[in-house]
Parts: sequence; structure tokens; C-alpha cells
Amino acid sequence: MDIRFSTYNDFLTEYQTYKLDKCSNCEGVRELIDDDVTVVIENRTLHFPELLVLCCNKCGDKCLPEYSKQIIDGAYKSMIEQEQFVGEFVSKSYKKKFEYCKETDYKYDHKDYYNIPGLCYDEEHSTEGFLTPVYFDRKALIYFISVPDFEVDIFSETYGHIGKKDPEGVYIYDWDVPFGFNSNGKLVFWLGDLNYMDTQSQAILKGFNVDSDHLIVDSEFFQAQMNCTFSKPIIEKQILMNKDSFISNIKKKYNIDLAHLDEECSEHAKNIKRPLVFTEQSVSGVINAFDKVLVEGFNVGRLRELYEALYSENERDAQYGKWQSIRLIKEILLKFCNGIGNTIDVEKLISPLYILHDYRIYFDHLLSMDKQESTKAHIVETLGVQNFSEQEAIYLEEIDRLNKLFQYLVLLSK
Ligand SMILES: [Zn+2]
Repeated sequence: MDIRFSTYNDFLTEYQTYKLDKCSNCEGVRELIDDDVTVVIENRTLHFPELLVLCCNKCGDKCLPEYSKQIIDGAYKSMIEQEQFVGEFVSKSYKKKFEYCKETDYKYDHKDYYNIPGLCYDEEHSTEGFLTPVYFDRKALIYFISVPDFEVDIFSETYGHIGKKDPEGVYIYDWDVPFGFNSNGKLVFWLGDLNYMDTQSQAILKGFNVDSDHLIVDSEFFQAQMNCTFSKPIIEKQILMNKDSFISNIKKKYNIDLAHLDEECSEHAKNIKRPLVFTEQSVSGVINAFDKVLVEGFNVGRLRELYEALYSENERDAQYGKWQSIRLIKEILLKFCNGIGNTIDVEKLISPLYILHDYRIYFDHLLSMDKQESTKAHIVETLGVQNFSEQEAIYLEEIDRLNKLFQYLVLLSK
């Protein structure tokens, strides 16, 4: 980033302008990044090979955050004192420590606290540094999920909370704090919240503590904590809600109840959570549950009734009496798409239901090696990923397609 001020006063004006987390040019948000920065003030040139700047995640527009401006001001004043006109300023490795979690001694970057818009203007906590982001490998949560003393809830893709149950049973929680995932997938807590945890939990987290990558603004965690915006439910839950809306639309319009094994479905729906790490095992748990709810959770006989309601006798396929739910849903979709059929690729739209089935067969049954390989190859090819070991890519693509499919079903059945 190159920035030029013709007078020191111009710089001061910029210094006094507080930069917000929202970009002033577009809808994007400003994240903190390391940049090579050259600043010219009057006739002096200051070079910072590594300085934190705010950069819009959509349009790439850059500006100077609070603490970096303070560093520039200090550097400029020292150049005047020493009568220098060109200066090189290498950042020091100095890390300030706040009065929280002193004993656990987490790694964090105090510059984040002063630079990220809004964090240091915190009127709720009197001790400085509460809202300093502390970063962890997200695998840290696995321990807390597996031990029954804790409750972990991920209520959106980038926002959740963790609580330790009160052993006395007086309160719901001994402590309860929010956390987020940043755009690099790192787990983030506020330093001040970590201070509420018991020392044992703090120590477990310490093992997963990583260096700050400064990113946090582009997360529902940050937006909800700073701007009180409501976070949307995770895609997995949206898919389930859309399945219910589809069923209720059909009931209203055709008086046909497609629901099947409602109670069992809601039991399985509880297992539908976003996996923390993407292994065949963790992914298969969610896929299995989705297969039960989204494929077996439709009444095949009623789907056939709906097919009959949509297709006149001479339009019907001779084989339709033998069709199972996926094929019936596909034909129902085709009918719904009548007139707009050319713009929608129904084959692709229905593909995630077939994948759920394939994936489940692959995990649940003893298959010959040949059959296993061909099932994997089919999943890989249908979803357009590189190979079967890319479980995260497979999962995200599958969920994305399921989400589209059920959005369509809701929209077209209205
Ligand atoms: Zn922008």
C-alpha cells in the first residue's frame, strides 16, 4: 500500500478519521492484513515492510487502522528529531500482555485489539484487552464435545458457544462463552472470555493455541458480537426446515401428507450438525442422518399419489408403480419446472439425493473392492471433486446441492 500526504496536517486529519469494519465503497467488510506500506508525509518517506492495514474482502480497497496510524505518527516524529528523510521501520517482535489469563499465557497479538475496528472501544469491561481475539486450531473443540461436562453448540457456520455445566446444579452453566470461526477456519475466543473458564479448560485450549492471522471481521461471531446482527441457522438446519416447508406446501395445495416416520426423523435430525473435521467417519454420520430424513423420510405411497395428481393417466410412465422416492421426487420436480424446465438442470438438481444413497451404501454395507471403488468414483465424478480423500470438498458440495434442491422444492411447491 502506498499513501501520500502533502502536509503533516493532512495526515492528522486521516489519523482522526476512525475506520469502521464496513467498507465505504461496497458491501464488503474490512479485515486486517499484513502489508508492505510506504507512507510519504511532506518530504519524508517512511517504509514499513510489514504493517497491519485494513483491506476490504470484496473490492480490495485499503486503509490505515488506528494502531498502525499511531506507529506511523511515532516514526514520523522520530525522523524529524533525527533529521532523516528516508526511514525503514521493521516491526518489533514485542507483544504486550493484558491482565487476563496471565497464568495460561496464551499467544495473541495486542495490535489486533487496537487495530480491528471497535474492539478497544469496549464500555462493558473496565480492564483493557477483553476483546482481544485469541486463535486456536478448531480441533480443540473435539475434546469439549466428547466430554459430557461440557455443552458445545455451533449455531451458525461461524458462530457458537461452549458451556461447562454447573456440578452443583444451581446454575445451568459454571461458565458459558461464545466463540467464532474466522474465514481461515480458525477457532477464535475473546481473551476476556477465556478468563472466565476454569484453569483445566484453559490448559486444554492452550495446547491448540496458534498465532494470530488477524482475521475475524468476516464472521457471524464478530458481526453478532459487535453489531448485534442475528445469525442465520447453519445450512444443514436450513435444509431440514425447507424439507418441512415443502411437506406443508404440498399438504395445503394437494391435501397429500408426504411425511413419513416423523418422530424418527426428528431423532435423526439431531445428528445433523456441521462436522468439525472432515473425515470419512465424521462425514458419514451426517450423511447417514440426511439419507434417513431426506430420502426415507418421505412416504413413497403418498409421493406416488402426488405424481398421479400431477400427471394425467396417459402422461404417466408405465413403470411408475415401481419407482422409489428419489425417482418420484425427480418426476415431481420435472412437472413443477414445466415452462421453466429449460433453465433448470433437474438431473443435477436431484443428484445429491442419489449421492446420499451411494455414500450410505458405501459405508453401511460390505461391498466388494471393485464395487467400493466404483461407488467412490461415481461420487467423485458426480460432485466434480478431485478424489475421494477430499472429504471436506465432497461434504460442502453435497450440502450446497441439497440446500439448492430443497430451496427449489419449497419455491416451486408454493
Ligand atoms: Zn469494498
